[in-house]
Amino acid sequence: NACLERARNIKKYNPFITITDNVAIKQANASTDRYNKKKTLSELDGLPIAIKDNFCTENIKTTCASKMLENFIPKYNATPYAKLKNAGAILIGKTNLDQFAMGSGTVDSIYGPTKNIWGYSDDNDFFITGGSSGGSAIAVATGTCYAAVGSDTGGSTRNPASYCGLVGLKPTYGLISRLGLIPLVNSMDVPGILTRTVDDCVTVLNTISGHDPKDSTSLMRQHRRIRLPPANKMTIKGLKIGIPIEYHCEHLSPDVLDVWDDVANVLEESGAIIKEVSLPNTEYSIVCYSILNQCEVASNMARYDGIEFGFRADENSSTEKLYATTRSLGFNEVVRNRILTGNYFLLTRNYEKYFNQALKVRRLISNDFDNIWDEVQLLLTPTTLSTAPLYSDFIKKTNRDQCAVQDYCTQPANMAGIPAVSIPIKLSKTGMPISLQLLGRNLSEPMLLAVAKLIE
Ligand code: GLN
Repeated sequence: NACLERARNIKKYNPFITITDNVAIKQANASTDRYNKKKTLSELDGLPIAIKDNFCTENIKTTCASKMLENFIPKYNATPYAKLKNAGAILIGKTNLDQFAMGSGTVDSIYGPTKNIWGYSDDNDFFITGGSSGGSAIAVATGTCYAAVGSDTGGSTRNPASYCGLVGLKPTYGLISRLGLIPLVNSMDVPGILTRTVDDCVTVLNTISGHDPKDSTSLMRQHRRIRLPPANKMTIKGLKIGIPIEYHCEHLSPDVLDVWDDVANVLEESGAIIKEVSLPNTEYSIVCYSILNQCEVASNMARYDGIEFGFRADENSSTEKLYATTRSLGFNEVVRNRILTGNYFLLTRNYEKYFNQALKVRRLISNDFDNIWDEVQLLLTPTTLSTAPLYSDFIKKTNRDQCAVQDYCTQPANMAGIPAVSIPIKLSKTGMPISLQLLGRNLSEPMLLAVAKLIE
């Protein structure tokens, strides 16, 4: 009840699209019952959680913050939610995002933007939460929920974690099932985890990771629980940590640079070996992503034709017209733009020049990481180039330009499928959270999160 009340009290920050009162009360009663009968299901039993509104939830509206799915009620649960539910967690609500997770600010939602709780805010202006999982971040940052599930295709979990002072994990591609996550870029999408501490993140990861026979891209491996040692029992003596020079990029703020240097120094003093390394194809990641994203979007969005799912325009002169009007009215400009551009890249005459070329560049970016793991075990980089921008400044840029700056440090991990975690470090002089990112090779979550715990 206290959590539901808080969810209502923080409405002005707009983190929730749907507050799931009835579900929460039912689940909480069942949990209390289990507790009284000493039949608690797991360490998550009875804890409040939130799920981004691009994960299907049975009999609960799943909108993707769009008019297209404004009234869409799925018939099944996405696997990450199903697993949390089976572990006894309580769903407080479905959280706000950029329409279909296309964005980096949680500013492009038909329900309005989500506002950051950090920094100054009034009726006219506020600091953005980052995105596209900004609603999930605020659900946790306000203490309304213990943890929230987001999604991460180019940084959508780590970016809001960075701006809102939270731990944000993008796991190895395929470690957590994508079943029921409405796709953006199938080959890069992963469910992400937002929590206040690394230990909480591990608890959620242990619950929702593992092979899912219903998702052919989920990894075939035995489920392993991660157990982190207490921070005072850990040592990083001899651990090789790389600082990639390409992440010293344009627009990197002095605040973030200082924190990056400080943490590298502390790690070195604690016995780690800090080494400058190079990932030479980093600078192509954003443009390459933009092509691959739009091609996959063009194909993914074809299912929204007004016939099968969601919104249908009032247009019956021809089938073609019905499709066109439904999409014109059902999608915002960002989505429509990506569909059109994606189809352009996929034209027979352009396919080789753009799509195939982008796939080759993606391979080079991925190889950069593969080559580096001979030299170092982890990489330390910024998550975002600055602290959270003001809404009024952010929306002056086009969605494309917003992403280019926001996703610079986060996007390459999705290209390569490797795990990455954003860790809050300290507040800037202006009182805004500054965070750093650790990256590791595929399935290195146990080491990645152990070092994250040491740093936090
Ligand atoms: N900003 C990127 C985009 O708009 C990534 C979003 C995400 O990770 N979902 O595509």
